Amino acid sequence: MAKIAINIATGSLQQAEMIVGIDLGTTNSLVAIIHPETKKPVALREHNSSSLVPSVIHFDENGNITVGEDAKNYLETEPQNTIFSAKRLMGKSYNDIKQNASFFTYKVIDNNDESLVKVQVGNQFYSPIDLSSFILKELKARAEHILKTPVTKAVITVPAYFNDAQRQATRDAGKLAGLDVLRIVNEPTAAALAYGLGASSNSSKGGEENSQTIAVYDLGGGTFDISILQITNGIFEVLSTNGDTYLGGDDFDRAIVKHWMEQLSIENSQLTTEVKQGLRLRAEEAKKHLSFNDAFTASFNGNDISITKEQFENLIQPLVDKTLQSCKNALKDAGLQPGDIETVVMVGGSTRVPLVKQSVSKLFGKEVNDSVNPDEVVALGAAVQADILAGNNKEFLLLDITPLSLGIETMGGLMDVLIPRNAKIPAKAGRQYTTQKDGQGSMRIAVYQGERDLVKDNRKLAEFNLTGIPGMPAGLPKVEVSFLINADGILTVKAKELRSGVEQSIEVKPQYGLTDEDVEKMLLESITHAKDDIALRALVEAKTEGEQLLATTENFLTKNTSLISKEEMMATAAAMQALQLALTMDDKNLIQTKTEELNEVTRPFAERAMDAAVGVALKGKVL
Ligand code: ADP
Ligand code: MG
Repeated sequence: MAKIAINIATGSLQQAEMIVGIDLGTTNSLVAIIHPETKKPVALREHNSSSLVPSVIHFDENGNITVGEDAKNYLETEPQNTIFSAKRLMGKSYNDIKQNASFFTYKVIDNNDESLVKVQVGNQFYSPIDLSSFILKELKARAEHILKTPVTKAVITVPAYFNDAQRQATRDAGKLAGLDVLRIVNEPTAAALAYGLGASSNSSKGGEENSQTIAVYDLGGGTFDISILQITNGIFEVLSTNGDTYLGGDDFDRAIVKHWMEQLSIENSQLTTEVKQGLRLRAEEAKKHLSFNDAFTASFNGNDISITKEQFENLIQPLVDKTLQSCKNALKDAGLQPGDIETVVMVGGSTRVPLVKQSVSKLFGKEVNDSVNPDEVVALGAAVQADILAGNNKEFLLLDITPLSLGIETMGGLMDVLIPRNAKIPAKAGRQYTTQKDGQGSMRIAVYQGERDLVKDNRKLAEFNLTGIPGMPAGLPKVEVSFLINADGILTVKAKELRSGVEQSIEVKPQYGLTDEDVEKMLLESITHAKDDIALRALVEAKTEGEQLLATTENFLTKNTSLISKEEMMATAAAMQALQLALTMDDKNLIQTKTEELNEVTRPFAERAMDAAVGVALKGKVL
C-alpha cells in the first residue's frame, strides 16, 4: 500500500506511493488503506464522522455537484436532481432496465435501443460512468484531505456477477476521476481477503494443495448477492453467484413505513413528500435500533410511532427467506451442499439484523463470520489487495502470478512464449528476432496470452509495429523484444532494433475480460489439445523453415549467378521444385526431407559465397 520513505532533508516520515482500496457501493461508498504503522486495513474517515459516503449525487440549478450525506437530504424533495443507485445503470442499456424503470425517480433516457443509458438532469445528460466518476472524485478528494497526500492509484471493487462492460465502465469512471485503476476486484473476494482467507499462512505448505470453499453473503441497501468461492493456494475462483438486484435494507425500511402508516391509519396519497422522507428516515433509524434493542418508540409529527423487534422480524421474514432461496440456488449451481461450505462471511450493512444472521447461520449449519465491520469489509479487502499490488504484502504471494503464458506471434502463426504461466510477478524476459525480407522496414509485434501453440487459439492482448528499421538484408536486423510485468500486473512490451537503436513500446493493461473460468477453460483446452498442438507446431515449423530456405535460395541465385555452375543451377532448380511441391502437402517428414535435400545441393556454393546476411537468415528466428 503506502510505501513509507524517510525524507532525508526533514527527517519526517513521507508517504511515497499511495494505493487506496475503494468500495464503490450502490448505497454507500468508502475508501480504505493499510495503516502505515499497524499494517492493518483501516477505513478512512474525517474526524468524528462516518467512513461511509452515501452514493448519492445532487445537482443544483447552477450545475454544482454535491455527493454524499448532504446530497441524500434531497432524495425526496428534489428527486429529479438527485441521483442514487447509479451503479445499477453501469454498462446497461435502457432495454436492460426497463422492467424496473419506475424504480428510478430521476430521468433515465428511453432511447429504446441497445445503446448505453444516459440520465438527464436539467438540460444536461450524464452517463452512469460520469455519475460514478463524481462519487469517485469525492472519495479521492476526501482521502487526499485525510491523508494529506495525492491519491492517484486505486483498486476498485465490483460485484462478482459484473460483466466485461460493467467492469470496463467502472475502470473508466476511475480514469475520469483522475484515478489509475490498478485492479478491479470482486467484492466477495475482497471480503474474503479482509478476513485473511487465502493467506499463505493458512494455505499450502510444502507444495500440497490447500483448498477452501467459502460463501459470501452480502445484503446491502438495495441489492443482495451470494457468492460461492473456492480458494486454492491463494487463488480465488468464483464457483457461482446468485442474488436479487432489487432486494436490500431499503425494503426493510419500506416495510416499517407501511407498518406505521397502518398504525396511524393514513394513506400514502395523504402524505407530502417531506412527511414521506421523514417517515423513511425514521424507519431506517428504527431498523438500526432494533438490531441491538427489542423495541423502538418515537413521536412523529405529534403522533406516537412504535415497532417491536418481533413485529419487525415478522415483516421482513419473507424477504430474508428470499435471500435463503438464492443461497440454495447458488449452492446448487456450484454442485455443493450447505455442509460443504467451510466459512460463511457476512457483508453489507443489512447483515447486522439479527434475524438475517441467525437465518443464514441455520441454513449453512455453522456460525457466520461477522467480526469485521460489514459496511467496511469490502473496502478493507480492497486495501489488502492494493497492498499486495504494491508488493508490500508477501503473505498472498500466490495471487501475484501470471495466470496464463505471455508471448508473441512468430512466423507461421506460432506462439513464442516469453513469460510462462505461473511466473512470479514482477517478471522480465527478452528474446531476439530478425526480419524475413530484404529491406524490411517494419516489424509487427503481436502479443498473446494463452497456452496453445498457435496464436489463433490464444487471446490477443495488443499489437504494434516497430517501424523505421533501416534497410538491411533479411536476417541482419536484430530486434530485441522484451516483456516486463510490474507489480501492478501491467505488461510493457518493448521492441528495439539493436543495430540502429530504433525502439517502440506499448503498455498492455491486464485483461479483466478474463474471468477465472476463462483462464481455466484455456488451460483445459491446452491440455486436451496438447498432442495436436505439438504435431501442428512441428508441421508449421517445418513449413516455415522450408519456405525460408526457398526464399533465401532464390534470392541468392539472382544475386550470385556468376558463382554457380550450370549443373549446380539445374540440381538446385529441381530440389526447389521438389520442396515447393512438398510444401503444398501437410506432411512434416516429407517437407523436412526435401528441405534437407535442397540444403545439400546448395551447401557447396552457399559456403563459397556465404555472406553474413544469408548465414543469419538460415539460422535465426524470423517474425
Ligand atoms: P451497499 O453495499 O448497497 O452500498 P451497505 O453495505 O452500505 O450498502 O448497506 C447499507 C444498508 O445497511 C442500508 O439499508 C442501511 O440501512 C443498512 N444498515 C446499516 N446499519 C444497519 C444496522 N445497524 N441494522 C440494520 N441495517 C443496517
Ligand atoms: Mg456493498
